[in-house]
Amino acid sequence: MQQTFTIKLLPAEAANSGIIQQYAASHLGLPVSSITGYQIKKRSIDARSKQPWILLTITVFANEPFHAASPASIELHNVSASRHKVIIVGAGPAGLFAAVKLIELGIQPIILERGKDVRARRRDLAQMNKEGIVNPESNYCFGEGGAGTYSDGKLYTRSNKRGDVNRILQLLVQFGADEKILYEAHPHVGTNKLPQIITAIREAILHYGGQFLFEQKVTDFHISNGIIKGVSTAAGSRFDGDAVILATGHSARDIFQLLHNLNLKIEAKPFALGVRIEHPQQLIDQLQYHCPVRDEFLPPASYSLVQQVDNRGVFSFCMCPGGIIAPAATNPGELVVNGWSPSKRNNPYANSGMVVSVELSDMGAFKQFGPLAAMHFQQSVEQKAFEAGGGNLVAPAQRMVDFVEGKVSSSLPDCSYLPGINSTSLKEVLPGFVHHALRNAFKEFGKKMPGRHGNKGYFTNEAVLVATESRTSSPVRIPRDPETLQHPQISNLYPCAEGAGYAGGIVSAAMDGERVAAAISAILQPA
Ligand SMILES: Cc1cc2nc3c(=O)[nH]c(=O)nc-3n(C[C@H](O)[C@H](O)[C@H](O)COP(=O)(O)OP(=O)(O)OC[C@H]3O[C@@H](n4cnc5c(N)ncnc54)[C@H](O)[C@@H]3O)c2cc1C
Repeated sequence: MQQTFTIKLLPAEAANSGIIQQYAASHLGLPVSSITGYQIKKRSIDARSKQPWILLTITVFANEPFHAASPASIELHNVSASRHKVIIVGAGPAGLFAAVKLIELGIQPIILERGKDVRARRRDLAQMNKEGIVNPESNYCFGEGGAGTYSDGKLYTRSNKRGDVNRILQLLVQFGADEKILYEAHPHVGTNKLPQIITAIREAILHYGGQFLFEQKVTDFHISNGIIKGVSTAAGSRFDGDAVILATGHSARDIFQLLHNLNLKIEAKPFALGVRIEHPQQLIDQLQYHCPVRDEFLPPASYSLVQQVDNRGVFSFCMCPGGIIAPAATNPGELVVNGWSPSKRNNPYANSGMVVSVELSDMGAFKQFGPLAAMHFQQSVEQKAFEAGGGNLVAPAQRMVDFVEGKVSSSLPDCSYLPGINSTSLKEVLPGFVHHALRNAFKEFGKKMPGRHGNKGYFTNEAVLVATESRTSSPVRIPRDPETLQHPQISNLYPCAEGAGYAGGIVSAAMDGERVAAAISAILQPA
């Protein structure tokens, strides 16, 4: 027999397969000897009470041979002789998953990526971290795998309605991710593991007849009678195709500017902006697991916080337990921070974006930039942060309680941000409404995660705020027809994923890439 059910275990029990089998047997009213094996279907942590529990949903086999269901894998065939070619601009999760889907559908993808491959890119990241120098073509956002490659690799998404999340996770497993991502409630890959997965995707695309070209920044579109025919790159090459997928991400300001210069419809879009906050991980563990020291069988704790301040949302974003704050600017003279963590999440810090929603009514003088208003607004804050830090990507920073009390911090705690931090009043860096909303929200967050028995809570001067977290989502939307997914003015041009405003995060970007590829196939190869 096979039965699927959920059991509740102590963290140490959940790490012991013998104990899991005992629980399974007792649940089924059978002797342990009749259990031939089990497979985990879902694993989550319930840390609401003083004792954290692990909830395991398992399929148990009893009195019959055990066989684990293996993850589905897709079959690809060579497309080098395909009648159809599609240009994909950008090799982020959207571009890569669009390419794989096109191959599956028998269409040849040609990927044009402005940055370098994952390995060459690593040197440019080291230069950012050690010397504070930004290469505008190769950084945490640009290069093979896009912003996803050196991201944290959390794969949790709420966009379940936008596509098949499971398929994306299964494909990631096919390309080398740990099978755990298929059952963890909050799957995480880790920055150290992502580059190998991205490399495997590229190798598969090339193996099955796709093309993958690096250091090919698209700088112009070739449009004739309202139909896009191809693109040109800064390197002086022209590429033509049956369709063009624009998967350039939320940081490709030159692409937004190009669309605007060509009088193509784009719209300013609300986004969110604030700071990255870093606490000692141990403190977050104490607060979330209600104990002085984290149980060795529990992962470093995370949190998710949200608060309305004067009808404006303030929320934690991309929380990275055991993580590092990273410089994520794409141009010299700008300061942007983000966060990542290795698969073991074993750094002593817990960081999270803490951002405030920015509406189009907040644009003030930036309204003059029309559809690029939010983009210029975002950039101006990043430039202010760069100046306040003093250059070389040193970031302006302030302790949390000092920020709320309006004091410049006389000293700063150790911080994971490698280019360094500089004590500054963040009031001078952040827009007034962002500063106001964060100050009020932090006090409320302190009440939501209070210290107990003389211990510190979330609201503490041990936490440091680092500015600025500004690339939370695209400040521009590129419209597309809801049915065909093409730009309303230009046939065969497909705005895609995060940069166009249709995704937020790795999995939803990948799903949108697949969706666009399927829409193209439906037009090029009608059933
Ligand atoms: C440090 C960090 C941590 C993150 N952590 C997470 C996380 O844990 N979980 C999560 O879901 N998301 C995370 N993200 C966000 C995630 O990486 C993005 O949401 C996702 O990568 C968006 O995918 P995309 O394909 O739409 O765009 P992108 O990944 O931005 O890819 C766009 C690609 O287009 C290329 N490009 C741009 N302009 C041009 C041009 N003109 N010509 C040719 N190529 C061009 C870029 O070089 C880039 O490779 C993180 C991001 C960062 C920076």
